[in-house]
Amino acid sequence: MSSSSSSKDDVQRNRIISSKLYFDVSVSKVPLIYSESYDIAFLGLEKLHPFDSSKWGRICRFLTSFGVLDKKCIVEPLEASKDDLLVVHSESYLSSLKESSNVARITEVAPVALVPNFLVQQKVLFPFRKQVGGTILAAKLAKERGWAINVGGGFHHCSAENGGGFCAYADISLCIHFAFVRLNVSRVMIIDLDAHQGNGHEMDFANDRRVYILDMYNPGIYPLDYEARNYINQKVEVKSGTLTEEYLQKLDEALEVARHRFDPELIVYNAGTDILEGDPLGRLQISPEGVALRDEKVFRFAREKNIPIIMLTSGGYMKSSAKVIADSIVNLSKKCLIEIKGSPNA
Ligand SMILES: [Zn+2]
Repeated sequence: MSSSSSSKDDVQRNRIISSKLYFDVSVSKVPLIYSESYDIAFLGLEKLHPFDSSKWGRICRFLTSFGVLDKKCIVEPLEASKDDLLVVHSESYLSSLKESSNVARITEVAPVALVPNFLVQQKVLFPFRKQVGGTILAAKLAKERGWAINVGGGFHHCSAENGGGFCAYADISLCIHFAFVRLNVSRVMIIDLDAHQGNGHEMDFANDRRVYILDMYNPGIYPLDYEARNYINQKVEVKSGTLTEEYLQKLDEALEVARHRFDPELIVYNAGTDILEGDPLGRLQISPEGVALRDEKVFRFAREKNIPIIMLTSGGYMKSSAKVIADSIVNLSKKCLIEIKGSPNA
């Protein structure tokens, strides 16, 4: 290793060690991470994107209204600071976000280009940085409790140098680098079941043998990143129109292969719900019950071998997604794969 790359590693290591994002969470809390500041509401501009940008809050409101989750038990993360983001991103990439036109391109909301950058920072990038803080903290909580869910995050199209597809920060790459240093983890499996290919983490962990990537995606839609596809360890392509039964069968087979190929110490599960039938972007035909079964299979895979798992909600572009995710979390709890009823004395 050259001296310049080892000093770069030292800088990265110091940034991770001095970060405030890992903090102690009381046992009275449930490892479900959310902040009201996740939700993006911005002069109605959010309505121009097909993304339901209040999805994250709606998931939590469903869970509390079902009586399965006490609001007091939710963990609120900190915002990822510039130093935290520099663990993966370059100065020049972060500077590019100071131009609203770049944020407009990444979020695919053209009028954002006309908005003064301080407002874009406050209304769009700050919510994203809170979600990044949530993804990073999730790994620590999963290591302590066996599992954690960030009711947000999963920005799998963003890599160190490139944002896109509504993803401005590489939360998955950041989370894994923090886990390497702070949790003494050296083998991580990413199970990316969002309908889109996870090209961001694929570019960031290209040829990094500490990370095993299982990506199940529709090959005919965005991002069509053929270079990043070379870095997927286990590729499962599901074409437009794939139905629930075929999808779940392919998932079973894929998990069986993954089980024999790699022995992870942490699983990062990117659980996008844009595989749902009717989703205009994902173009798959998976029923709501199919989504719950999918999540159940992945949690079973992790919990059977006691591998800490974090779940990120990622893509899912319809109003119905929030309820589907909440129902799936309730199902995980019913199947005793997670425990979301906080202690009654909390
Ligand atoms: Zn997606």
